[in-house]
Amino acid sequence: MNRYNKSRASARGNTHFAAARRAMGLLALLVGVIAGWQWLQSHPQHSPWAPLDLRDPPGWATRTKMNAMLGDVSECRAVLARSDVNFSTLPPTGEGECARPDRTRLGNYPLSPDTPAVTCPVAVALELWRRDSVAPSALAILGSELARIEHLGAYSCRRIYGGADGAWSEHATANAIDIAAFILEDGRRVSVLGDWDGDDPEAAFLRAVRDGACNSFATVLSPEYNAAHADHFHLDQDDRWAGVCR
Ligand SMILES: [Zn+2]
Repeated sequence: MNRYNKSRASARGNTHFAAARRAMGLLALLVGVIAGWQWLQSHPQHSPWAPLDLRDPPGWATRTKMNAMLGDVSECRAVLARSDVNFSTLPPTGEGECARPDRTRLGNYPLSPDTPAVTCPVAVALELWRRDSVAPSALAILGSELARIEHLGAYSCRRIYGGADGAWSEHATANAIDIAAFILEDGRRVSVLGDWDGDDPEAAFLRAVRDGACNSFATVLSPEYNAAHADHFHLDQDDRWAGVCR
């Protein structure tokens, strides 16, 4: 073999070697994609393609799927039904800024003095909040099961802070709820007004559930936000204000 043929043979060898490497690379990529897909199938909370089921633990895709459900009543109610949450629906009422096309009422939810009809996204967030934050925090920080959650109301046809002008409140459509206190099975009552300040377990509990609410509600306002919230947490699902958590 002369020098010319030798170098041609070596070039062919290099080409074959490069093609084999490419094939191996593609194979590894394919194996990776299949493994990733299988992993997502068994971890639906991290998969943006899996339908939202509230019984799944919170995951990377939960917030995205929650956001997709805001403003889509039928999809939201499908989430509650799929997740085996007890709820009922009431016919639409009201008009103008206070029109309520979505009135959803949770069944078996420990709200007190009553369980008001709210928007479906608020119902979904309340369910997640109770299960993932309020109930476990009561047990871990205060050493008691949660008995009830006291609220100050959900629906109120008014503008923010009750003014004559300005933006309409999320309460105008019951897309919000105000929470005042938590009653424990051991009889204790932990209130936002009475227990927010200080560094005792009650204050730690209130801070933990305020922070926990930010995982399922779009807006969370506590005494730390302003004096108007000294006696309650305002929780709403307004997607325009997403991110306020204080
Ligand atoms: Zn409020």
